[in-house]
Amino acid sequence: MNKTLFVKTYGCQMNVYDSARMADVLAPLGYRPVDNADAADMVILNTCHIREHASDKVYSELGRLRLLKEAKAKEGRRVTIAVAGCVAQAEGAEILRRQPAVDIVVGPQSYHRLPELVARAARAGGGALDTDFPIESKFDHLPDESAAQGPVAFLTIQEGCDKFCSFCVVPYTRGAEASRPALAVLQEAERLVAKGAKEIVLLGQNVNAYRGPGPNGETWSLARLLDTVAAISRLERLRYTTSHPKDVTDDLIAVHGAQPKLMPYLHLPVQSGSDRVLEAMNRRHSVDDYRRIVERLRLARPDIAVTSDFIVGHPGETEADFEATMTLVKDIGFAQAYSFKYSARPGTPAAALTDQVPAQVMDERLARLQALILEQASAFNRRMIGRTVDVLFERDGHRAGQRLGKSPYLQSVHVQDDNLSIGELRPVEIRSASAVSLEGRLADGARDAAAA
Ligand code: SAM
Ligand code: SF4
Repeated sequence: MNKTLFVKTYGCQMNVYDSARMADVLAPLGYRPVDNADAADMVILNTCHIREHASDKVYSELGRLRLLKEAKAKEGRRVTIAVAGCVAQAEGAEILRRQPAVDIVVGPQSYHRLPELVARAARAGGGALDTDFPIESKFDHLPDESAAQGPVAFLTIQEGCDKFCSFCVVPYTRGAEASRPALAVLQEAERLVAKGAKEIVLLGQNVNAYRGPGPNGETWSLARLLDTVAAISRLERLRYTTSHPKDVTDDLIAVHGAQPKLMPYLHLPVQSGSDRVLEAMNRRHSVDDYRRIVERLRLARPDIAVTSDFIVGHPGETEADFEATMTLVKDIGFAQAYSFKYSARPGTPAAALTDQVPAQVMDERLARLQALILEQASAFNRRMIGRTVDVLFERDGHRAGQRLGKSPYLQSVHVQDDNLSIGELRPVEIRSASAVSLEGRLADGARDAAAA
């Protein structure tokens, strides 16, 4: 009965959530989590397929695990290796062919069947595959969460994507958009808070496309769900990610102005500042639409920090298109942003286009965009110096006696203070800033009104 499990997570926060739920599914079989592969009877790689680089990492890790499995076999111990997540979904049986040491391949919508797959793999000596999109929802078959997630807890409320952006594998690996029932989400949120969560992050591939069935047969929007989760009294903070501009509704903007537990932060990927490229990407909104959304969000919540994702070098992107992206970034002023070189993904429409942008051009554009984003992030962080903001402390810092937490704007804040405990929410006076983090000291006085 006493077995050990190590789950290595790649990619997005939804994978972090799924990894915790896989551990929940395997707990009744006697699997207890450990924090390294060497000590594990079962290793799960929960993978990401979003860019080529992300998928490649999986096969090199599997090579290392094969050696570990062989070494353990010599000691008479069996190590089960499973590949889960989006690479599992996209490559399926190919993984078993390329790396025969793998015992189980399981997709993101079928991991509730892991106990059955473990038994099948044990009987057959490996080769168990399940990449179905089952009719039943995995959520109806998952046990309640067994382990506390800590002060910040992730909660998946929506899965899949129907947008089919030209470049993206998600609609193929995660399947169609589906929302969990509102009541199931509320109950899970209450359990997370009872286990110590002070902040909940509602997750979805397109979280603001949430349209969940309510308890009386009506459909709930994300705005209604946010307001209802916020009513859990011991919950201090709420966030949600990732949103699509097309699904930013009036009620969602309004809730940013009215709900004090909803943090003044929104990650809203735009990908490009050129209408021509947005059209080629099948993003279904214009650059002006995006500008108007940000304007309205800032009217509702003037201090809101807006962050984004960008892809440079989508097939057909010209220098003028790229300059339009730079202009948009300058005009909006982002608190932070992620930018990626376009990576052709097998099976997506963009991969079949002939006007691919040369790697060298992509490198040069990415460097320019990242320099601008870095400048904006540094300026945003520097503006915090001298202000007092609430910080929720999540973990220890690298230095002895140092704690690390997050500001309302999702900035990392370091505080050197031995008496500070993980899970505390305390006002901090910010004393210095870099492009990636802030440093401060506990403040006794009241925090700034805008950052309360
Ligand atoms: N659903 C979100 C949205 O609509 O923006 C994002 C989901 S995706 C997991 C996260 C980010 O990865 C995207 O916003 C995009 O910038 C990037 N991405 C997706 N496919 C990519 C590709 N083929 N090449 C480079 N970056 C990609
Ligand atoms: Fe991918 Fe587009 Fe769906 Fe986001 S909206 S997950 S980028 S297809």
